[in-house]
Amino acid sequence: MDLHLKDKIAIVGGASQGIGYSIAHTLAMEGATVVITARRKEPLLASARRIAEETGARVIPVAADLRTESACQEIVGRTLDECSGVDILVNNAGAPPLGPVLSFDDAAWERAVEQNLLSVIRMIRQVVPSMEQRGGGSILNITAISAIQPIPQFGLSVATWSAVIGLAKTLALELAAKQIKINTICPGYINTPRLQKVFAAGDEPADDVQAKLCAEVPLGRIGTPQDIANLVALLVSPRGSYITGTTTQVDGGLFRATR
Ligand code: NAD
Repeated sequence: MDLHLKDKIAIVGGASQGIGYSIAHTLAMEGATVVITARRKEPLLASARRIAEETGARVIPVAADLRTESACQEIVGRTLDECSGVDILVNNAGAPPLGPVLSFDDAAWERAVEQNLLSVIRMIRQVVPSMEQRGGGSILNITAISAIQPIPQFGLSVATWSAVIGLAKTLALELAAKQIKINTICPGYINTPRLQKVFAAGDEPADDVQAKLCAEVPLGRIGTPQDIANLVALLVSPRGSYITGTTTQVDGGLFRATR
């Protein structure tokens, strides 16, 4: 199926590795120009080279820390300078630290809000005028399954990503008349460098930790970044033009409620 992404311009956050890399690679395979961001320059440049070589697409790397307003302005500014506008924004980055909710002080909460919520608001604010000018656009937020099915120790993420879901639902209404769509994906366990670190972090052998997580998943396996990228590509493409305001888990069946 042709997703009609040729000539589209997409900004993808946190794209030097993991889920963001796979999303950028998939959109590039579909013919989009991708502007990719991450904090560290060298891995970002290496990823940009690899995506360009493997897909033939135009890839523009912008090293920036999404936790600051100036970085958000720089990413969108570079995109507007080098391309004709923005059609697609994928909000994706890191995550705040784990720990019991009550163990975090105000400074930790402020950092979490800056990272997970304010970065999303700032990026959306920056891209909407261009999307409006172009007659529409698509925004996609990557959060986590914990935002809809909380997990102890994940409180900073649960609270801030629940806010992102509320923001997205509101914006889906406010931006619909401009044909700007906004959707949210909640990944389950996805095999990325981040998850590999989790496997290796405790006293238990990494293989045992991985086997335990697999046993929790009804489909019996850890997901791949491509599992996420496949749905992102559909949702942000013209093929997904009637889908907005959704919150969808991609988790092998982990989410257990009926809603
Ligand atoms: P990862 O650590 O493998 O990759 C994260 C990417 O984001 C890297 O390119 C990193 O450089 C970049 N990044 C991090 N902080 C940034 C910042 N402040 N500014 C700019 N770039 C930044 O992570 P991943 O596993 O691909 O996860 C991506 C997102 O999905 C995270 O928010 C994570 O919490 C969420 N998520 C992951 C899983 C999983 O199992 N891997 C599950 C649910 C949700």
